[in-house]
Amino acid sequence: MNIDLEIFSPVHSISNPLFDEHDVKVFLKRDDLIHPMISGNKWRKLKYVLKAARHQRKNHLVTFGGAYSNHLLATAAAAARFGFKATGIVRGENADNDTLFLCKLHGMQLLFTDRESYRNKQGLFIKHFADDTNAFFVDEGGASAEGARGCSELVGELTETYDHIVCACGTGTTAAGIINGLTDHQLKTRFNAVPVLKNGVFMKQEIDRFLTAPADYDLHLDYHFGGYGKTNDELIDFIKQFVASTGIVIEPVYTGKMMYALYDLIGKKYFKPDSKILAIHSGGIWGLLGLKDKFV
Ligand SMILES: *Cc1c(COP(=O)(O)O)cnc(C)c1O
Repeated sequence: MNIDLEIFSPVHSISNPLFDEHDVKVFLKRDDLIHPMISGNKWRKLKYVLKAARHQRKNHLVTFGGAYSNHLLATAAAAARFGFKATGIVRGENADNDTLFLCKLHGMQLLFTDRESYRNKQGLFIKHFADDTNAFFVDEGGASAEGARGCSELVGELTETYDHIVCACGTGTTAAGIINGLTDHQLKTRFNAVPVLKNGVFMKQEIDRFLTAPADYDLHLDYHFGGYGKTNDELIDFIKQFVASTGIVIEPVYTGKMMYALYDLIGKKYFKPDSKILAIHSGGIWGLLGLKDKFV
């Protein structure tokens, strides 16, 4: 079976009085529409990983994630779609939640592991699958050169040029891929990375390790809201407002922080008047499931 999805990821214009006030135009690349489960950047990151597995005739994907990982769910769904077996090694004790339910629904086997052992992923892979000649290691979050390669293809889909691209960062693979795409197409578009983790300065190393050529870009370090998966009332209120006024669902782990950053930066006159800004909706709306109780 060919490993490919027909990509549907249009660019939508969004409006807000704030944008008019500061004379900027804002667009959203709807990677969230690529697939309901193999969402957004996770499909882009998995595409060449799955192709590599297939090429090596490995039919069992083994990957890693937290209990609410979009990557685990995307891998489970992609494995089911393209005829692979999948195992998810989950950080933490025997958890049970909506994301893991969806992983299991797609036939993924789950192995729970304590936080200490989870640090050594290659070790876990060898411990459990040394004898399985079909097993194929897929790093946490799909972080890999193949992942970056898949993400770089986003740039080739754009039919207009933008002054800025804004994107949320976890492992930095998506950011690196898009920056590589900009380099490949010789575009002057400025890349703006919004790390969703605390101590985002480390993100520069993470991004740079997957760059195909040195590149300059901006890191906006003040939008982590206390760290990965952390949130506060201000962020939740922003998300509620955004969803209710655009009909586009964002969530607190990635895209909510990215859009909040974008609105905040516009309000602070970070972007020159007349700028065209493309925000990347990297998908992952199931991240809402883990944070439902924050929305009361
Ligand atoms: C995983 C994820 C990211 C982070 O992508 P990286 O390549 O790890 O930086 C961003 N947005 C969403 C919605 C995600 O699920």
